[in-house]
Amino acid sequence: MTDDSPFETRDSRLVIGVLAVQGDFAEHAAMLRRADPAVAVREVRTPKDLEGLDGLIVPGGESTTIGKLLVAYGLELPIREKAEHGMPVWGTCAGMILLARNIQGGEPDGRIGLMDLSVQRNAFGRQIDSFETELTFKGLDAPIHAVFIRAPTVRQIGEQAEALATLPDGRVVAARQGNLLATAFHPELTPDVRLHAYFIEACRAHAHSRRSEVEASPL
Ligand code: GLN
Repeated sequence: MTDDSPFETRDSRLVIGVLAVQGDFAEHAAMLRRADPAVAVREVRTPKDLEGLDGLIVPGGESTTIGKLLVAYGLELPIREKAEHGMPVWGTCAGMILLARNIQGGEPDGRIGLMDLSVQRNAFGRQIDSFETELTFKGLDAPIHAVFIRAPTVRQIGEQAEALATLPDGRVVAARQGNLLATAFHPELTPDVRLHAYFIEACRAHAHSRRSEVEASPL
């Protein structure tokens, strides 16, 4: 387990995990630190690394591989359980696939599967499998630069989830469902830290409510 600061207590510092079994977890960790240097960032590889987390990012990479490793390292069930209990989880690209309830184009062995979304893997085909564009993102004042790399899109969005960003052709590429956030693109590959700051705020709100519950509970 590698927290930035093992010396400060969890009560004073937000601890956000980045699933670090495959994919671009290092870029997410760097963005979290840039967005808020006070956040302790922890690479997550074992169930023990999940203890006390205030939030978790599931990065881009290869969802089949990440799914296999979730099962192999015993992470699939504990992550799902924590997410069901309100821990904020943000999946980008492969991470979005692993968060979706329904997947078209090849279902990974292990996944979190809690978001009311049906996603299509590699939705842009081979010819334009990677591209960049400006996107309006609900809740952000100005558009973001979005990098898509062999990205999924949302085919169907269920009632529980809300679309946060949509391509000009109408395809949803970002969604939120309570504590769960999914983006088809890679905000960790741009200099813009606003989405990481957005996620940190969700983690902070969750940590706050969790800690006040602990304080309020009788001894
Ligand atoms: N195409 C990959 C998959 O299906 C996702 C690509 C990415 O995360 N950049 O898992």
